Amino acid sequence: MKPLHTYSVIPKLPPNLDALWDLAYNVWFDWNHEVTGLFSLIDPKLWAKSYGNPIAFLNHLPQTTLESLAKDDFFLERLRSVKHSQDIYMERKSSMLPFSYPERQPLVAYFSLEYGLSLCLPIYSGGLGILAGDHLKSASDLNIPLVGVGLAYQQGYFRQYLTADGWQNERYPDYGFEQMPMTLVRSETDHKPVIINVDLAGQPLSAQIWKVRVGRIHLYLLDTNIHENPPHFRQITSRLYGGDLEMRIWQEILLGIGGIKALSILGLTPRVIHMNEGHSAFAGLERIRVFMTEYGLSFEAAMELTASTSVFTTHTPVPAGNDRFPAELMQRYFDGYARSLGLAFKVLLALGREDPRNDGEWFCMTVLALRLSRFNNGVSELHGHVSRRMWQKVWPQYPVEDIPIGTVTNGVHIASWVARDIAMLFERYLGGNWKEDPDYTRVWQQAETIPDGELWRAHERLRERVVDYARARLRIQLAQRDARRTELLQADEVLDPQVLTIGFARRFATYKRATLLLADKERFLKMITDPKRPVQFIFAGKSHPHDNEGKRFMQQLVQFCQQPEVRNRVVFLEDYDMEVAEYMVQGCDVWLNTPRRPLEACGTSGMKAIANGVLHVSTLDGWWVEAHRMDSAVGWSIGQGEEYDDSGYQDFVESQILYNLLEKEVIPTFYERGQTNFPREWIRRMKKCLQLFTPVFTSHRMVADYVKNAYEPAYKNSVSLMEQNFAPAKQLASWRMDIMTKWNALRINNVRSDVPEIIHVAQPIAIQADVYLNGLAPHDVCVEIYAGPVSADGSFTERKTAKMDLTKSLDEGWFLYEGQFTPETPGSFGFTVRMLPSHEHLLDPHSLGLIHWAQ
Ligand SMILES: *Cc1c(COP(=O)(O)O)cnc(C)c1O
Repeated sequence: MKPLHTYSVIPKLPPNLDALWDLAYNVWFDWNHEVTGLFSLIDPKLWAKSYGNPIAFLNHLPQTTLESLAKDDFFLERLRSVKHSQDIYMERKSSMLPFSYPERQPLVAYFSLEYGLSLCLPIYSGGLGILAGDHLKSASDLNIPLVGVGLAYQQGYFRQYLTADGWQNERYPDYGFEQMPMTLVRSETDHKPVIINVDLAGQPLSAQIWKVRVGRIHLYLLDTNIHENPPHFRQITSRLYGGDLEMRIWQEILLGIGGIKALSILGLTPRVIHMNEGHSAFAGLERIRVFMTEYGLSFEAAMELTASTSVFTTHTPVPAGNDRFPAELMQRYFDGYARSLGLAFKVLLALGREDPRNDGEWFCMTVLALRLSRFNNGVSELHGHVSRRMWQKVWPQYPVEDIPIGTVTNGVHIASWVARDIAMLFERYLGGNWKEDPDYTRVWQQAETIPDGELWRAHERLRERVVDYARARLRIQLAQRDARRTELLQADEVLDPQVLTIGFARRFATYKRATLLLADKERFLKMITDPKRPVQFIFAGKSHPHDNEGKRFMQQLVQFCQQPEVRNRVVFLEDYDMEVAEYMVQGCDVWLNTPRRPLEACGTSGMKAIANGVLHVSTLDGWWVEAHRMDSAVGWSIGQGEEYDDSGYQDFVESQILYNLLEKEVIPTFYERGQTNFPREWIRRMKKCLQLFTPVFTSHRMVADYVKNAYEPAYKNSVSLMEQNFAPAKQLASWRMDIMTKWNALRINNVRSDVPEIIHVAQPIAIQADVYLNGLAPHDVCVEIYAGPVSADGSFTERKTAKMDLTKSLDEGWFLYEGQFTPETPGSFGFTVRMLPSHEHLLDPHSLGLIHWAQ
């Protein structure tokens, strides 16, 4: 029997408790312990059961509790004080924008398929989402006018549970958005939900919009689970990364095209868009369409404008990880769309192909994003390099160093990931403003002054806490599997709060090599059961539901943990999520990271760990390459950054290095206790982590980098291209067409210099070249010397460029260019000359993919 009508019944808060809703409906609670402390104070048991969700918590409070709270002066005083902190935060005007931004509109719209903002908003799967969440939080702290766009998944990402023999199963609970910190966007006039419509192969898809407050930032989430849609469309926002390719293209059309429509219907006109991963690249097409229809621009002008004001961050260092769609699928959904852009469908398809003429190639979202953005970046220096190599085909004839993909290294939102006990030390020794002070380096310098004893005791408490937490989780895991009573009792015995604790939590993708430690089981066993100086391990992580190989890895590990002699020293916690991550990165002593280089684009869990003074042991991959370069004696590196062709051999070698590191360095350093019973050297390293690494691997620094390297120049492009009714955009587009048609015939000939066989360091070399411009004006191009040391095989090992000047007009469209170059180091040295397009509004001369080299 089903009820005829259903309603949500919520408690009636007495008016003097109203501020609780303001606190509960702003994810600001996630990084301000005083708010969650307040909820916990009301009813600790209920709060603990609420999965970090203050709305569900408040909705479940008995009316009697509320009424007595309303009369509790002590509580009311605390509520006022916390609310006051929030008000101050929300109203603060200061901004770290380095330029004046007088507009009332958001500057940037940030697009991401997932967001990891809080435990109670399960719309993330892993690193990509956490990064997006931390980006919004830092943008809020730094007062960057930014708005987020994403999807509201009814079932989120799957919840993991394991069978008794360690095989991963998935379950998908339904979430009620009314019981979450988000509100449905309604029209101001008729109070009905605001709806946007997107065309899916001739069928209308509708979506409503939820708003999440993240400090000062608004995040809008699209939701298709509404009665206007047929059942298969209602499923579109059901699961993150669920479904087949067609489901994926629906989701990406909704995010990209629907996202732009949602901003528009909300009256938001951000100048710049930032695509976090290629999933949202259709947003670029939709912006082109809007610029064309609303402002009467040609496709070319609209594309210039779009690309000049778009930022794209790629995250995936393996070709297979990038979304690709077959041509037929694209045709079904973009045939008509291409027409609305005035394009033949094949031209649209070419935008997503590495080789536009290759009809066999699938349409790749990353390629589309690279073509529709002038600000592209990878997420660590190494990953930037890998990406330039990986996408070289999009810019044929370009040396890999000049592929226009830069780097902005990821960071984490420190205040969200730091334990309360550690945060209290920061409060005391770094100054009250450590969470938001943009002068990060100065703030973190002061970590030096935290007394060793205080830091160590806080850390030991956190280790105890993660041990307790692991036991409690294990009990729940076992109970769900109907384990016997004796087994349940055993859960209380696992781990030891005094023992060196190593954490490993991440996706069970095979390249992350969770089982590296099992390479020599005997040696591993000896290490964990050492009577004097034992180690223990906490593992966690999910495998993608279709990744059977990853699941087999996990099963191996779990079965290993179940052996009687291992059970108390190695545990696997199910259902890795932000809560498990939090306990682990705060309470372990060492964070272990074993990706097969260079497959970890960046990695962020280790950054959360270092902000808590947890030392890092890692292969030289992702962000750790950069940290290791700053100071190689803070954590430990597995190897020297070698890359191997034989991965089996690599695993063997690196597992041996890891055992040696643990046995000879990590374990002795941890157990080396002086008279005070503190491990002095260990604590010295913990402080170095805080001082050196935390200010660099924070999302404040990351967002500041995006502002400086991308948002600000993109904003300036927007302003300058749109003035005088888009005249500069139109001019740039027609200039580009002109360049495209004439470029092929340009030439650089007869490069000569007065170099003797032997030259001395710092002796300038004069170089001349004849250049044919085919009717282009000299200011349309930039001619430069390209020079540097060369290796034995004759290729450049490094290169610098120096501009050449036009000094003379020769006959028949030829010009004489001259320039100078000075070798700075001895050795074998070479040079050549090249030519690139040049235009005042073209920020990056490489972005058109046009280049000529001297013949
Ligand atoms: C931080 C985090 C990640 C990302 O960690 P990596 O080091 O990039 O693997 C994944 N999942 C959760 C729940 C996290 O908190």
